[in-house]
Amino acid sequence: MDISIDTECVIAGGGPAGLMLGLLLARAGVDVVVLEKHADFLRDFRGDTIHPSTQDLLAELGLLDAFLQRPHADMPRVRLSWHGQELTLADFTRLPTRRKVMTFMPQWDFLDLLADAAARHRGFRLLRSTRASGLIRDGDRVVGVTADGPDGAVTVTARLVVDASGRDSDLRAQAGLIPVGVAAAMDVLWFRLPKAPDEHYPFVQAGAGMIITIDRGDFFQIAHVIPAGSWTGSEQDLVGVKQRIAGISPRMAEPVATVSTDDVHLLRVRLERLRHWYVDGLLCIGDAAHAMSPAGGVGINLAIQDAVAAARLLAPVLRERAPRGRELRRVQRRRMWPVRVTQRVQRMMQRPLLATSAPDGALPVPLRVVRDHPALTHVTGRFIGLGARPERLG
Ligand SMILES: Cc1cc2nc3c(=O)[nH]c(=O)nc-3n(C[C@H](O)[C@H](O)[C@H](O)COP(=O)(O)OP(=O)(O)OC[C@H]3O[C@@H](n4cnc5c(N)ncnc54)[C@H](O)[C@@H]3O)c2cc1C
Repeated sequence: MDISIDTECVIAGGGPAGLMLGLLLARAGVDVVVLEKHADFLRDFRGDTIHPSTQDLLAELGLLDAFLQRPHADMPRVRLSWHGQELTLADFTRLPTRRKVMTFMPQWDFLDLLADAAARHRGFRLLRSTRASGLIRDGDRVVGVTADGPDGAVTVTARLVVDASGRDSDLRAQAGLIPVGVAAAMDVLWFRLPKAPDEHYPFVQAGAGMIITIDRGDFFQIAHVIPAGSWTGSEQDLVGVKQRIAGISPRMAEPVATVSTDDVHLLRVRLERLRHWYVDGLLCIGDAAHAMSPAGGVGINLAIQDAVAAARLLAPVLRERAPRGRELRRVQRRRMWPVRVTQRVQRMMQRPLLATSAPDGALPVPLRVVRDHPALTHVTGRFIGLGARPERLG
């Protein structure tokens, strides 16, 4: 059965950017429909970091208690173990935020929280298993999207289409928006390791390569940073990866021996952004506007901050009429600067992240600077924990 909906804003993509925008618009009295292609939010290849500034937003929305009731782990400092030598990379303990910690929460729990909160507002609708497939136009203006839902075709017309469908967005290409970027120098191998009760690894272990370990309660999610293009999926590659991991973290040698090539997922890192985030009737936010590297774990925070800025600038307009181009441009102008700054820093971080053991086993220079000037860890903590331009709701 085909479905036709007319609403004030339709958002393609129920990730952090799309769901936060949906929640904020519905809370501001705007009718909003979010289309999410998956049936649920269970996804493995996602960041889990909820920044102190995002937790402030949750508090402003009255969601902090509900957030803290979900499974999570707090990290007051980002610590790195370099050939067994411990140092702090970023310190959140002096941030001017309610919670001075980075919190790890599986992204599905965080997205469930946003979706539940949004569903309490009358004007909010989330259509799951519904993939936005095309743009509807009236002359040059985008006036809606077509989608494939579980029961057939879905057509949604709206005053504004927001593309929050992530870094592989089709919609932005259909709108003629093509990202430009720099090739990222690194890729990430992503796999699970079994976890014994009370077992623990440092969050970042580095030496001849880098391993990030996310404790997901009953297993470890491992991200291993490798030079871009160096993984072909062969048994020989896997042998090399296991040797490197055992070299960085001897304790991991035994559990990693059980990993097969089928268990390893390659995540290609991209670092790119749109020059123009909008056309008449359509705005891109989050990864659809700017794919971030996982360096520093800031992608979710930026996506959320885009959503907050977009809701603040556009909700009053959307309640009355379709936003004009210059009103969409204000969102881009507000958010482009933090994206540029963050991507520049991420590019600078690629080399030390990849520094697969300097011949003398020496710390790469940026890490040495942070070690020798501990006060800098509050600066890095601020940059990661708040972002280059934090956003407020009102
Ligand atoms: C390996 C890796 C590790 C990362 N680690 C971190 C980290 O630790 N911390 C951090 O902050 N960031 C991290 N990031 C980045 C972070 O995941 C993204 O920046 C963030 O998820 C962007 O949010 P988004 O809502 O813009 O897009 P996404 O999270 O990509 O969400 C897009 C949503 O749209 C849906 N969708 C896609 N196409 C359609 C369609 N046609 N119709 C309907 N729905 C659609 C998708 O199913 C998805 O739910 C990492 C990224 C990678 C690749």
